[in-house]
Amino acid sequence: MSVTAADASNAGAPAPEATAKKPERREPGKDQQLWLDGKFIPADQAHTSLTAHGLHYGTGVFEGIRSYATDEGGAAVFRLAEHMERMARGAEVLGLKFDPQQTFDAIVETLRINKQREAYVRPLTWYSGGGLGLDVGHLDSSTMVATMPWSSHLAGHAVRLTVSPWRRIPSASVPALKLAGNYVNSIIAKREASARGFGEALLVDAERNVVECTGENVFMVKNGKITAVEHKDALPGITRRTIIELTGASARYVGVDELFDADEVFLTGTSAEVVAVQVLDNKIFGDNPITRDLQACYERIIRGRDPDYRHWLTYI
Ligand code: PMP
Repeated sequence: MSVTAADASNAGAPAPEATAKKPERREPGKDQQLWLDGKFIPADQAHTSLTAHGLHYGTGVFEGIRSYATDEGGAAVFRLAEHMERMARGAEVLGLKFDPQQTFDAIVETLRINKQREAYVRPLTWYSGGGLGLDVGHLDSSTMVATMPWSSHLAGHAVRLTVSPWRRIPSASVPALKLAGNYVNSIIAKREASARGFGEALLVDAERNVVECTGENVFMVKNGKITAVEHKDALPGITRRTIIELTGASARYVGVDELFDADEVFLTGTSAEVVAVQVLDNKIFGDNPITRDLQACYERIIRGRDPDYRHWLTYI
């Protein structure tokens, strides 16, 4: 028996949509190719061992990346170099051999081969060797790239958010990077929020400072001023950095009570892009004009309509 790449491909792609809607299954189509350790293989023929270390202990590092159709009929990947740089940092923590330039090139090639423009890109590097001991030094590792059709499912949507009773893993225990095993924390928080009818969970620390959501960073707007929530336990989000660079937003620790008192709250993430929070537990937010402006600005940039930011795009 084996686990196919298609079974695994949906894991960890955060999508804070309302729970009433059954989430779409996102995976590479059977006629599509995956890149695995330097070779292309049909998506439905990829297998991994049932004793692969990564399967048992989450000893892998992944990225969530977006490619967008551009107006000229091509496609572009948003901030690919930054995603590779973050992935390399995660690989280093686990001692995984990882070549960021090779994976960068593999992503471009996989999108080309699959003729995908609006796509979600999922590279993963993991200990694929069998072995259940906790010493990983001698294990084989693999790197794969899957691309799958994707559209901006949150555009025009708003998130129903709830404060989670779960705590984010402290970065003093495990670094806030995209280590596969870390995502168990997000998954149980998301399950708990869903069970109470919310679409997304807000993780706070023991002092009730906001950390982040299960797959997004948090911003707030008060009296026209945009603040990026900062926290040592939060993933250094690339979309968050983008919004800070675009708006000059200040970054600081924010208590959850401040969020309840904000005029607007929005979340950022590669998958979520920029999305307004409609509800935070019993608080209902209004029209969110600043979030709407930022969504429009982000949209222009990711589609290459703003020449000042084309250096963030890798054209396919
Ligand atoms: N926090 C977590 C826990 C995430 O998984 C993500 C998605 N990668 C984010 C924040 C947002 O990061 P980015 O903007 O780089 O996608």
